[in-house]
Amino acid sequence: MVRVEDGRIVEVAELDGAPPENSTDLDGRTLMPGLIDAHAHLSSDISRSPGFGPPPALHGELPRPRALGYFVLAKTARALLAAGVTTVRDVGSYDDEAIVLREAVRLGLVAGPRILSCGRIISATAPGGAIFGSMYREADGPDDMRKAVREQLRRGADFIKLMATGARSVLAEDPEPAQMTADELCAIVNEAHRLGVRVAAHVEGLAGARLAVDSGVDTIEHGLSLHREPALLDAMARQGIVLVPTLSTFHDLAERFTDDFAPPLVEQAKRQLQEAYLTLVAARTAGVTLAMGHDSGPPGANAIELVRMVEGGLSALEGIAAATHGSAQALGLPDVGTVTAGAVADLIVLDDDPLADVRVLCEPTRIRMVIQAGNHVASHARAPVLTPV
Ligand SMILES: [Zn+2]
Repeated sequence: MVRVEDGRIVEVAELDGAPPENSTDLDGRTLMPGLIDAHAHLSSDISRSPGFGPPPALHGELPRPRALGYFVLAKTARALLAAGVTTVRDVGSYDDEAIVLREAVRLGLVAGPRILSCGRIISATAPGGAIFGSMYREADGPDDMRKAVREQLRRGADFIKLMATGARSVLAEDPEPAQMTADELCAIVNEAHRLGVRVAAHVEGLAGARLAVDSGVDTIEHGLSLHREPALLDAMARQGIVLVPTLSTFHDLAERFTDDFAPPLVEQAKRQLQEAYLTLVAARTAGVTLAMGHDSGPPGANAIELVRMVEGGLSALEGIAAATHGSAQALGLPDVGTVTAGAVADLIVLDDDPLADVRVLCEPTRIRMVIQAGNHVASHARAPVLTPV
């Protein structure tokens, strides 16, 4: 029996006697924490989510209003919730869209998960800045890095995201060397921690991984090269730095969207995909806390990342723990991702046992209920059918 009052779990106990009034009988089903996606990009740009957005514009149609993008964001929020994702950490979006969506959810304008946003990603001046535009705040030198941190908080950011290395999706960037100096990276981490927010570091190559771990970031995003230096994984385990392996994004570049990326990036991603799986296993062995980060689309397909982590070597229980408790640790939220007294009642009910087959988490029709702060907010039966007219 899980008793919920005022949005929180107040008791988890064996049921003694008849169920109390106003209770819901979940006999034969599974109750578990809502899923937490620790690495998402909440964006009206759904080019990596075929079929999710409006049909492509045809020649001759009037230009689409920019504001339609906010309806795509609202659909994103609902799709996440319907898939059992009750909390999501946005690690970079254009034009502050994630912050806008977070406020729309907070103010009750649209149903959606709890959202944490980094504001803009802090990067050294780099080719990626020319590609990612308003998703980035380029900065150079420790003082400018500090200012960039302060600007994100002014913007409404919940945490800070930085680029310790270049990005695998940018042809003119080599993701192997560090992109920031140690002084610059330390300035960001010190300023963020001084002001009470956490730091997520985009890390691909080892040099950036060393800088990020040494400077005490809170999460490492991607981190595919870490298997090459087990001492770094040991340090992460000791320091409580969470790894978000984002396996799905490597599948995207290496397999799913091969026609959309420059050929050298596809070849690079094929190598990175293998490394990401090696690092997953090495991190598990080293005792590093793992989190689930889909870093892909469409919104609502997030649990495929959990499935991939299990296929990569985690047990079903370890995968579920990563997608709930581990992700909550990544976000620094002690009261979500767990079914214990005192926690926020963000819960999902499944028709099946995910420990027998975690793939049921990818099937919306098997998600019986999604409960947010004690309220039944979504379920397959409740999901509206949307078809373009
Ligand atoms: Zn990402």
